[in-house]
Amino acid sequence: MALVCPGCGRTSLRVRKRLELGPDARWDENALQLVGCSVCSLRGVACYQESRRGALDDEVVHHHGWIVPQDEFRRLAKLVAQCPNPGDRRCGCEAHVALRGACRDLGVQYEESGCDTFVIRYVR
Ligand SMILES: [Zn+2]
Ligand SMILES: [Zn+2]
Repeated sequence: MALVCPGCGRTSLRVRKRLELGPDARWDENALQLVGCSVCSLRGVACYQESRRGALDDEVVHHHGWIVPQDEFRRLAKLVAQCPNPGDRRCGCEAHVALRGACRDLGVQYEESGCDTFVIRYVR
């Protein structure tokens, strides 16, 4: 499955880094992703959120992101790179502690600073 770049519309968007953040009040799964496009050099921060509450076939996925400046992308990439276990939601490293509520908090921050948002689309 390929991810569609919100910048150039090609299937060249890749998840460069990912940090599992675990459940919160609304979602059973939260993951912070740093995404980048190799064609148009777009850099983004994305949140993958999944809810399995309610009926069995009532699985909800929310996968969206914000287009961020290069220096913000680098700041987060550097932070996430410090984590020894990015797939472990219970990891207590500096990156995990700093980014625990990131799917909620960073979005507010980015929207206030005028970053464009996008929904991640897939093609098979
Ligand atoms: Zn692109
Ligand atoms: Zn960690």
